[in-house]
Amino acid sequence: MTTFGIDLGTTYSCIAYVDDSGRAVIAKNAVGEDTTPSVVYFETADNVVVGPEAKRSALLDPDRVVSLVKRSMGQRLDLDFDGARHTPESVSAIILRELARAAAEQTRLEVRDVVITVPAHFGVAEREATRNAGKIAGLNVLNLVPEPVAAALHYEAITGAGNRTIFVYDLGGGTFDTTVLRIDGTEISVVCTDGDHRLGGADWDARIVDHLLSEFMDANPESAADGSEDFLQGLAIAAEEMKKGLSSARSRRHHVRFDGEAARVELSREEFEELTADLLERTFEITRRTVGLAAERGVTVFDDVLLVGGAGRMPAVAAGLREQFGFEAKLHDPDLAVAKGAARFALIESVKVRLPGEDASDNAVVSQVADQLGLDEAEVRMLARKRITTVVPRAFGVKVLKSGPGEAEIHQIAHVLQANTPLPAHLVPHRFRTVYPDQTAILVEIWEQAGAVASAELPDNTKIAEGLVSGFPPLPEHSPLNVTFSMDELGTLRVHAVELTTGKDLRLEVRIEGLSAAEVGLARDTVARYDLRE
Ligand code: ADP
Ligand code: MG
Repeated sequence: MTTFGIDLGTTYSCIAYVDDSGRAVIAKNAVGEDTTPSVVYFETADNVVVGPEAKRSALLDPDRVVSLVKRSMGQRLDLDFDGARHTPESVSAIILRELARAAAEQTRLEVRDVVITVPAHFGVAEREATRNAGKIAGLNVLNLVPEPVAAALHYEAITGAGNRTIFVYDLGGGTFDTTVLRIDGTEISVVCTDGDHRLGGADWDARIVDHLLSEFMDANPESAADGSEDFLQGLAIAAEEMKKGLSSARSRRHHVRFDGEAARVELSREEFEELTADLLERTFEITRRTVGLAAERGVTVFDDVLLVGGAGRMPAVAAGLREQFGFEAKLHDPDLAVAKGAARFALIESVKVRLPGEDASDNAVVSQVADQLGLDEAEVRMLARKRITTVVPRAFGVKVLKSGPGEAEIHQIAHVLQANTPLPAHLVPHRFRTVYPDQTAILVEIWEQAGAVASAELPDNTKIAEGLVSGFPPLPEHSPLNVTFSMDELGTLRVHAVELTTGKDLRLEVRIEGLSAAEVGLARDTVARYDLRE
């Protein structure tokens, strides 16, 4: 059975597989396009629409349209459509279901085993939510793969083997990521990664919307247009079109109309670049941070700088990277690279599932798997050996008391496992001390950094687990507690805390479930009940 790779994007999604000839190919959607807007229109109580028509429906029926849902993954968010409860997971599941349905229809293959891409910066909760979205869609999620790793797999497939270091600049619709990777034929390893999950093409659109609106209001000062939600939705769509047009044309024009009033607004590429210069500069600040971090790890030369993500098509991106960093950035199949690489990863996973561990040296098993997957044996062995190593996406730590004796209690997070530590990571024990006299229990709270930059302040972190070390007699204050963090390749965090005078300990394994199994089951029924219409 073919395993599919799915790029579940903030604004556009895409599904691909590796065909019999070994090429990664896109399965087109119901209207014959390679990518599908990640937009869901809850048309009626039993009918949903996904894709381009859903995007257009945002104009007519904005309250029943959900877009940019990826930005809410991993958060509790309850939506209600006609009495059916929805979450970011279930809305994403509807997108996945439509991608799978259209792909099955187009390829005549069964779409059940999949891998789904996630941004490199996704934390534990976001990853778990993505897995659950796949389950709700009725899919078997073999694994998740970071988007830059997928881009690198596609890059490797088209450029051939050899040792290379690449810099991936991914400016998508709603997120921005930079990642440095090493490729060497048998292994792809992430050197470091950074990004801003609230910065993307949609922010460039918003600047054009502001511009169109202010020009229109200047021409029609009495107009009520700026209070109309429908009008603003329409401007957003026009703005995205103008932005895309300005990637090839020097200037674009738009007729803004509202209630019989009109304004003709002209926007040149230069003006557009001025309106958005600070946004671009934010991507360069992050680029600079990533270059610095890579240098600390001994990586100072990049064989290729790849632009993935649709917004990397804006000419100012490559121009700025050349000017500020001397990079000769290349567009790397910006809409499809991630899905095609995910398809390669899907093939690797399907081999590994059938050939766990030492089976790779068992010739009979290898030949059987080669038969099943329609590959030759050498290829099966090569795929089974392929290693992918990533880094810790965000820092993890323990909540500690910051204030001194007699002061009001202020807590902060002491990060123990730093972002960008290579995985698997096994840290040496970290020493903490109790703060109160006669403690008979120690509460250990594990927190994860929330934003891109590590900060000790509580609001910049999210609590992901807690537990008590207890069962000892009252301890003197300042008693030592050792806390050891480790994280495996899949990002599962294990924490071991030991009270050193008695040896009493606590083991925590952090796997955020997000939705419970029962909730996943319920959501699956809800999602399966809808008729899908493209
Ligand atoms: P995501 O993976 O976040 O969904 P994509 O990588 O598909 O995003 O990129 C979508 C973004 O790229 C959107 O903001 C879209 O407007 C923008 N985009 C697509 N084509 C162009 C273009 N020719 N010029 C500028 N921006 C573009
Ligand atoms: Mg993307």
